[in-house]
Amino acid sequence: MSSRSNLTNLKTKQSKSRFETIADNLNRIKSSLPPSVQLVAVSKFHPADAVLEAYNAGQRVFGESRVAELLDKAQTLPANIAWHFIGHLQTNKVKQLVGHVALIESVDSQRLLDLIDDISLKKNVITDVLMQVHVAAEDTKFGWSPDELLDFFRSGAYKALHATRIRGLMGMATNTDDISRIDADFALLQALFVEIGTIANDLTEFNILSMGMSDDYPLAINHGASHIRIGSAIFGPRSL
Ligand SMILES: *Cc1c(COP(=O)(O)O)cnc(C)c1O
Repeated sequence: MSSRSNLTNLKTKQSKSRFETIADNLNRIKSSLPPSVQLVAVSKFHPADAVLEAYNAGQRVFGESRVAELLDKAQTLPANIAWHFIGHLQTNKVKQLVGHVALIESVDSQRLLDLIDDISLKKNVITDVLMQVHVAAEDTKFGWSPDELLDFFRSGAYKALHATRIRGLMGMATNTDDISRIDADFALLQALFVEIGTIANDLTEFNILSMGMSDDYPLAINHGASHIRIGSAIFGPRSL
C-alpha cells in the first residue's frame, strides 16, 4: 500500500472515532500495528479516568507533556504504568521528574541532558532518555538540529554521562497536509538514527526511534519508527 493511501485510510477511520470508546480506538490502532512497534498513548490534558479506561483495555505506556500533570496521574493510577515525558522540560522541573518516569523522550539540549545526569546521579537512579531532534519546518518546535546532534555524538561527549542512558531519538514531522514533506522529515530522522547508531556503536541500548502521531503514524512506521505517540486518535480532541 502506498503511503498516501495509508494516510487517507487513517483519516477516514479517525473521522468515525468520536462514536467509539477509548478501548475501541486503542484496539483498532493496536491491531493495525506491526508487532515490533510500541504504542505510547498520549494522555496529556485528559483526565485520569480516561487513562484508566485505556489501562483497563491493556495499555501500559502513557505519554504526558507537563511535569505536574504526570506526577498527579502517576500518584493516583496503577503503579505498573510506564510514563513517558514528551513535552519541553524546564530545567527547574527536572528534580521533580527524575525517578518517576520510564523515559524522558524530549531532551532538547546538552544543558538539559547534563542536568538530568547530575540529578539522576544524586538520586541514585538511571534515567533513560531520547534526544529530541528538530526536523520540522516550524521553528516553534524544540530539539537539536541534525548537525548539532551529529557533532555531539562524533565528539564522544555522550561518554561522560554517568546515570543517563541515551536510548534513541524522538522527532516530529512538519504539521502539514503535504505528504512528501512529512515523508522527508521521517526519512531524515531514520537516517540520523542509523548514522548515530553507527557513530556511537558502544551505546548498546540505542534502539528507540519515537516518531509518528495520530495524523501521520503510518508514514513514520514506513520509516522504521519503533515507538509511535498517539493522543487524539485514542482519547479524542483535547481541550486546552
Ligand atoms: C501531543 C503530542 C503527541 C500526540 O499528538 P496527537 O496528534 O494527539 O496524536 C505526540 N507527541 C508529542 C511530542 C506531543 O506533544
